[in-house]
Amino acid sequence: MTPSLHSFPGGLAFVDIETTGGPAQRESITEVGIVQVDEDGVREWSTLVRPESRIPETIQRLTGIDDDMVADAPRFADIADEVFDRLDGRLFVAHNARFDHGHLRAAFRRAGLDMRPQVLCTVKLSRRLFPDHRRHGLDHLIERHGLVVADRHRALGDAQLLWQFWQKIHERFPPGHIEAMVRELVGHPSLPPHLDPEQVAELPDTPGVYLFYGERDGGTEGGTDSSALPLYIGKSTRLRSRVLSHFAADHTSDRELSLSQQVRHIEWIETAGEIGALLKEAELVKRLQPTHNRQLRRNRELCTWRLATDIVGDWRLELMHAADLDFGRRDDLYGFFRTRREATNRLRALARDHALCPPLLGLEKHPQGARCFDFQLKRCRGACHGGESPQAHALRLIEALHALKVEHWTWPGPIGLREGEAIHVVDGWRWLGTATDEATLADLLEAGRPAFDLDIYKILVKAVKRLAVVNL
Ligand SMILES: [Zn+2]
Repeated sequence: MTPSLHSFPGGLAFVDIETTGGPAQRESITEVGIVQVDEDGVREWSTLVRPESRIPETIQRLTGIDDDMVADAPRFADIADEVFDRLDGRLFVAHNARFDHGHLRAAFRRAGLDMRPQVLCTVKLSRRLFPDHRRHGLDHLIERHGLVVADRHRALGDAQLLWQFWQKIHERFPPGHIEAMVRELVGHPSLPPHLDPEQVAELPDTPGVYLFYGERDGGTEGGTDSSALPLYIGKSTRLRSRVLSHFAADHTSDRELSLSQQVRHIEWIETAGEIGALLKEAELVKRLQPTHNRQLRRNRELCTWRLATDIVGDWRLELMHAADLDFGRRDDLYGFFRTRREATNRLRALARDHALCPPLLGLEKHPQGARCFDFQLKRCRGACHGGESPQAHALRLIEALHALKVEHWTWPGPIGLREGEAIHVVDGWRWLGTATDEATLADLLEAGRPAFDLDIYKILVKAVKRLAVVNL
């Protein structure tokens, strides 16, 4: 197998996307294909994606991806985390990379993620390596190098072709020659002027959280400096690659530039894996509120709708707040809302979309048995005055709420999520802490339960599907 480049210890990601032909500012992506190559081997991955508009006839014919195929596919927002992790810390290799990188970066930004990979365009690489040839389209590369076509114009099929191209050029040129060209095309990472290169060299390329600090007054040497506040906190499965990617020369935004100008000192916390890094990052960002991070909002007013079904034929929605111990544990909760107002607005919108009766949802005061205002506008099917049975209305309500359903906490007590040597202790979707020995584990189980936190909840819902669960 062809080894990764020395300059890119995080490995390579050969990437291709298909789109509707629409602009990057819209949800145009219809398929993502990635071939990851690193010390652990070669992994292939792809998924269809549901775009916001129909796929034009000409594109359907080219790619073979039609509207029916993407009808049940996830939205980009639903897979953003997974795609991000597959690209994080790797050299992003694509044919005409500006297109794929531009679309993905815009889509990540809409999903609240900031992707800044180092990018290598195989059109440019081919032009450098084979200056005598005029054409460097993918079809020309296939012909020139005898690449084996499995699924042309599909995302994974085209990404595989790039991986083949990569192997072919390594048969023809010495690795040093290719590496030098890639470095030239990608640009050297240049360290911030005030940062000690030794510190960067010490960074392990393992999962963890890193903290960028600026100038400090009087500062202390070594150890965690509690007196200064960090400028920025980030996480990665490969700390060193990720930190270096902040300082890459070729795609530095004004914000990034201002951050790298200010960084004088880096601290890091290694974690057992990615989940540990996500949890630690969420906790630290919330606690320390670094100026360069997207601020994670606090949960003071967080609430959810509880559907009380104890009285047959008289189902009611009640607002439940994060302070409630049952919050996040029950099986009858729908949606998370930052405020009571947001919860009410969302319910109002649901009522309108599904022709539900607002008085029955508690949204309006209304004399019993009378026709509601929405019924007169033909927006309610008449559950208010017996025009629709309470059962039929209740069933439609459940259907309308379905997409908002909060993940049920199914365990009787606290659980442990095993990641490498570490155990993340979790109870009622609250993260109590992470233990690597029995004594710490016992302490965590003894300690009080923190308040429900929405960001932690989102991480844990994914984590229970990926990590081994042990009852504690
Ligand atoms: Zn009504």
